[in-house]
Amino acid sequence: MTITTRFAPSPTGALHLGHAYAARFAATHGTRFLVRIEDIDSARCKAEYEATIFSDLAWLGLRWEEPVLRQSTRLEAYGAALAQLKAQGLLYPCFCTRAEIAAEIARSGSAPHGPDGPLYPGSCRALSVEVRAARIAAGEPYALRLDSTKAAAQAGPLSFVEEGEGETGRITVDPLCFGDVVLARKDTPSAYHLAVVVDDAFQGVTLVTRGKDLFAATHIQRLLQALLGLPEPAYAHHKLILDAAGKKFSKRDHAVTLQALRQGGASPADITALFQDSDRAMISRR
Ligand code: GLU
Repeated sequence: MTITTRFAPSPTGALHLGHAYAARFAATHGTRFLVRIEDIDSARCKAEYEATIFSDLAWLGLRWEEPVLRQSTRLEAYGAALAQLKAQGLLYPCFCTRAEIAAEIARSGSAPHGPDGPLYPGSCRALSVEVRAARIAAGEPYALRLDSTKAAAQAGPLSFVEEGEGETGRITVDPLCFGDVVLARKDTPSAYHLAVVVDDAFQGVTLVTRGKDLFAATHIQRLLQALLGLPEPAYAHHKLILDAAGKKFSKRDHAVTLQALRQGGASPADITALFQDSDRAMISRR
């Protein structure tokens, strides 16, 4: 049986040890390994980072199927998925600025929290068809949000298969955990969740591997798959590689970029040893 996995970095910085772990995890858990460049955020993505991604992955000894898919070439497919959700009456335009959302949350006093912070209070959900049309006609910028309550009702009960490190088996989806999540941003024609779901299906990914920091994302992505009638992959969420202080590496930590480690004379075997050190640091903090 073919198990298709993918490593899907955004070229917004150099790869670090956390990426190396994720890439190796994906490559070793699949029989067909893909790399996908998640570059829809054109303001933050840079060609030079993309070039170092490929050279770092090759240096680690990984081989992937060509051609590599770039999300910036897939905008039509995301538009088609949005149109499908729109036709099901599941999207609404949201004109709110960040400041307006923050003010509304402060006013209401008790906003429920999701994995990314307070949930959108739903201010634009109640706008009439006429008001929406008038504001769009006036050229006001808007995002498209998923009406999560309607979407959850339409999809019915859902679950996903977890095969990763830790809890495994069927996990029940909480379709409301992100609230009315943004599926198309004001400045980009697709948001992360929609693009990932559309591309995982397009590329025939059967096992989505990624860090546990994206575990919550799987709930909303499984919901989107169901709404769009896409096949259901299995999931393997893996541990995060942490620094000595127990923090996740960030793209700003230049010392742990693969480029810096390579320039300092590290070998791919040294990187494996660093993963073991990170394991030991995790255990010693328990
Ligand atoms: N592009 C995402 C990231 O850089 C990963 C997407 C995914 O694995 O679903 O964190």
